[in-house]
Amino acid sequence: MSKTRKCEHCGKDINVIYNVCPICGGELEEYLDPLPPECPRCKEPLELHRGDDGQEYEMCPRCSGLWIDREVFPALTRGHPVKRQGGYRGTYRKTPDRGPLEYIPCVRCGKLMNRKNFKRISGVIIDECRRHGVWLDAGELEKIRHFIANGGLEMAMEREIERNRARIRELATKVDQTAFTQKVIHFWNLKRWLFG
Ligand SMILES: [Zn+2]
Ligand SMILES: [Zn+2]
Ligand SMILES: [Zn+2]
Repeated sequence: MSKTRKCEHCGKDINVIYNVCPICGGELEEYLDPLPPECPRCKEPLELHRGDDGQEYEMCPRCSGLWIDREVFPALTRGHPVKRQGGYRGTYRKTPDRGPLEYIPCVRCGKLMNRKNFKRISGVIIDECRRHGVWLDAGELEKIRHFIANGGLEMAMEREIERNRARIRELATKVDQTAFTQKVIHFWNLKRWLFG
């Protein structure tokens, strides 16, 4: 039997040999055989786990690193009911401790992932494939939840707003319309504009 996949445009099952859907004509992403999930660091086969809230993720039995699919990541972080804990506020602004700069492959497609500081200010460096998900080394999920529990998302949002304000002001001085832009900054609901 020939292998099929779902066309991402019309949803019909089509043979994987096509790069363009023969039914709707939509252009398709390059087909990749699903990889057996293995740890990008130890190459150990990953084990499937289910969180308290039913979300699935995969864990390396050796290094306890976690693979989290893109659709699941927000639920495991932002949507997670976390208790606020005291004593750590403000400590997340320091620059992250960067390990040796090492890029690791995506568990799904095998392409090297990007390294990024979660929410820019958390200091937790996560590895991300934009299309498939994120890799968290042991302890990073706890750090992220801790960051969130201590108001990290609000802090990140405030900072993003400040960055945008600064950018608008910078523009204003360039075009010499300061008075006008002051009004814009005042009336514009930046929070809604950025995050609504
Ligand atoms: Zn199609
Ligand atoms: Zn591992
Ligand atoms: Zn990927």
